[in-house]
Amino acid sequence: MRSIQRRFFRAFLLVILIAVGTEFAIVLRAVTEEIEQYDRLAGELEITRISHWLTGYYELEDSWEGVQPYLDEMSALSGRRLVVTDAAGTVVADTRTDPSEAPLDRSWPSRDLGYREDDEPVGRLYVGREITILQRFRSRMVRSIRSALLLGSGVAIILALLASILVSRPLSRPIRELVSVAGNAGRGDFRTRAKIPRDAELATLAQTLNTMMVDLETAVRLRRNMVADIAHELRTPLTNIRGYLEAKRDGIVTDEASTAIIESEVALLVRIVDDLQELAIAESEALRLDRRETDLRDVVDEALRASMPAASHSQLQLDRKSGDDPVMVNADPVRITQVVTILLANAVKHSPRGGAVTVSVREANGTAELAVHDEGAGIPAEELPHVFERFYRVDPSRSRETGGSGLGLTIAKHLVEAHGGTIAAVSEPGQGSCFTVRLPL
Ligand code: ADP
Repeated sequence: MRSIQRRFFRAFLLVILIAVGTEFAIVLRAVTEEIEQYDRLAGELEITRISHWLTGYYELEDSWEGVQPYLDEMSALSGRRLVVTDAAGTVVADTRTDPSEAPLDRSWPSRDLGYREDDEPVGRLYVGREITILQRFRSRMVRSIRSALLLGSGVAIILALLASILVSRPLSRPIRELVSVAGNAGRGDFRTRAKIPRDAELATLAQTLNTMMVDLETAVRLRRNMVADIAHELRTPLTNIRGYLEAKRDGIVTDEASTAIIESEVALLVRIVDDLQELAIAESEALRLDRRETDLRDVVDEALRASMPAASHSQLQLDRKSGDDPVMVNADPVRITQVVTILLANAVKHSPRGGAVTVSVREANGTAELAVHDEGAGIPAEELPHVFERFYRVDPSRSRETGGSGLGLTIAKHLVEAHGGTIAAVSEPGQGSCFTVRLPL
């Protein structure tokens, strides 16, 4: 038997034993009490009847003489030993048949003989304590009721246990199925899904397991894609380097030209590897945010300072737009500066010479809002949803010129989300783009 079924079985057994045991004890006690009560009442009634008859006899005869044969008859009928004493307490009749029987014991149940309670009694009737046939019959009846109850309880227990097996099997089946799905996951097969059972708790468990399987399947797919993407990204500069080295060996290009190109390809490789490392940190759960109360305006100023050389190279005007009050967030200032630097670098890269890039900071709708706005080429609407994806470049050839790895926005998104915030982009091709970061205040 499987262990979950064994547990059900044990639980059922316990419940059945408690139920049947309690029922058995209550019924037996009630039956015994009823019979005892009946016995007592019947005995009382008999003694009353006999004592009335004897009083009548004395009224009629004015003496106890000749009462013995009648007393014998009544004793035979009731199955009890009867003794009558006169007013002085002398035994006048006794139904003792065997002389070895004990003499009259005055502690036996007795009754005065006389019509009126205030009159002097004319005698006394004693009833023997020995067990009568009727009483024997009654105790046999109690015994047989007890055995019937025991038998009934036994049959009930067996039937209930059989029913418990029938009930517990369908209960444990979905659990066995869930175990099998989880086992598949353990062996690396994330495609199987558990059937949703009807029981609410098991259904929730199955749904949770299925969601987990989907997540795991996605994670495995993403990991595979990631490796393929990285291989693809590294291959282009490496192929270029090899091509130029071969061209240089064959004397097709000059040393100077090939060295410059190889240098730029190596720089791109270094950039990709650096960004991959940043992405790994941003993605990893190990990303430990050193959160502290931070004024977003300070963060922006820090990032603006870092972007200044690149901006002045393109004669761009960099500005911060914000109110006089600080915009406080509980965030890691280094990580948020990294996000703003990525956004500023993109804005600078895509802005025309002499354009303006503005970073605005404000509190809006209960969040801290930071927006980097440029007047650059913008992003086509169909490309916009993909810009945060790994290695996604809107214009690959231009991106190669600027040495972009296609990972900047992916890193930024992970960092913002690690802070419980969101990042979104709006863009109007030809007009410029605006990247907005929202962080909880
Ligand atoms: P990269 O490191 O190549 O810039 P990102 O992940 O930062 O990669 O950006 C992805 C793509 O989004 C870029 O290749 C670029 O085409 C586009 N992009 C990002 N920011 C802007 C912007 N401010 N204006 C226009 N295009 C942008």
